[in-house]
Amino acid sequence: MTTVLETIDGGTRYLEKRGIDDARRNMQMLVSGQLGCTRTELYMQFDRPLDEEDLVPLREALKKRGEGVPLQHLLGTVWFHNREFKCDGRGLIPRPETEELAEWVLTWDLADGQRVLDVGCGSGVLGLTLAAERPGWDVVLADVSPEALALAGENAVELAVGNVELVESDLFSGVVGEFDGIVANLPYVPLGERAEMCREVLHDPALALFSGADGLDLIRRFVPEAHGRLKPGGWVALEIGHDQASQVRGLLEGCGFTEVDVKTDLSGVDRFPFGRKPVS
Ligand code: GLN
Repeated sequence: MTTVLETIDGGTRYLEKRGIDDARRNMQMLVSGQLGCTRTELYMQFDRPLDEEDLVPLREALKKRGEGVPLQHLLGTVWFHNREFKCDGRGLIPRPETEELAEWVLTWDLADGQRVLDVGCGSGVLGLTLAAERPGWDVVLADVSPEALALAGENAVELAVGNVELVESDLFSGVVGEFDGIVANLPYVPLGERAEMCREVLHDPALALFSGADGLDLIRRFVPEAHGRLKPGGWVALEIGHDQASQVRGLLEGCGFTEVDVKTDLSGVDRFPFGRKPVS
């Protein structure tokens, strides 16, 4: 007989040996995922015996986690800005910084019926959060990947948000009309950094991570097109890499954006450039 606590202890040691950071939390998450309870609830069940029905899938998940499969893929879900989203290899695993971007965008003073576009929506965490928090906004989610869009669509159904439209689109190619706000967490990692990335990150779709030699290929295309698709007075907001702020500020200003401001993330990195299309 194996108890919850013994399973957690054994799994933690297994993951530690395989170099997984935060091994105990990982193991607790796997066990709570399997048992359908929260991590806190596990503490009340340490002596509960686990039968093979739970142990077999847990061993399988543990093995995969030890091989570097991301915890979020094994759990199949991820929390983003207080909502649970489906998460798998069709989209980028949401990063904590992007929740901060959502927070900043939610400070936009847009009236009901105004249009917001999320370009490169991936699993939909950013655009769907905006739609759920601001039911009066009309939110369009666009992505070049049909797989990512399918995942975003499943998340939209799961969250029961009605004020969204999903469009398959290479940046703006499939998107119709003008917007009051445009947000984008595009791929921004330089191709050359691939070799140094941790093995978990390599389970993200490469399409969602890399963008040319300096990481800015897509953002260079995005900025002028975004300017063309914004209504006068409309806002743009981006997430960028840790050393890209001065270049992206230059791109925004060079295209005629005003009020350009690069906001820092919680680690103090210049992470979120904002700009406004002049009113006239
Ligand atoms: N911040 C992510 C990473 O470094 C990249 C996300 C992105 O390219 N948008 O893994």
